[in-house]
Amino acid sequence: MAYLAGTNRSVDTGDTYFNELSKRINRNQLKKLKTDGTVEARIEYARYIVDCPNCNSAEFAFEDNLFFCSQCKNSDIQGKAREVKIPKGRKQIEDILGKRVIASRHWLSTESVKDLQNENLKMGVI
Ligand SMILES: [Zn+2]
Repeated sequence: MAYLAGTNRSVDTGDTYFNELSKRINRNQLKKLKTDGTVEARIEYARYIVDCPNCNSAEFAFEDNLFFCSQCKNSDIQGKAREVKIPKGRKQIEDILGKRVIASRHWLSTESVKDLQNENLKMGVI
């Protein structure tokens, strides 16, 4: 059965998304990896996403705040994991985006909570 991100909550992480599909994702191995560097999450179509700085792939961000690209296996940092920066004000961001239709739930790390509130006003969603 398909699940559209953003249907059951404002924004889905990899954890909540795959849980909706009844897929168990075991990430315990990642916790054993050393980390090297950080990447920022963003929100696109109600999904927390991380862009791989090595190969430009993009994948869900998970609650463990670790990024390990399934395409390139973080080959540029010898297979270590990257730490994911989750936004300050995450709850506020999710609440604001939750007022929008799923197709308009986007956020970039350069955008403030105030920016999102202003966008909502322009869209007429309060
Ligand atoms: Zn990659």
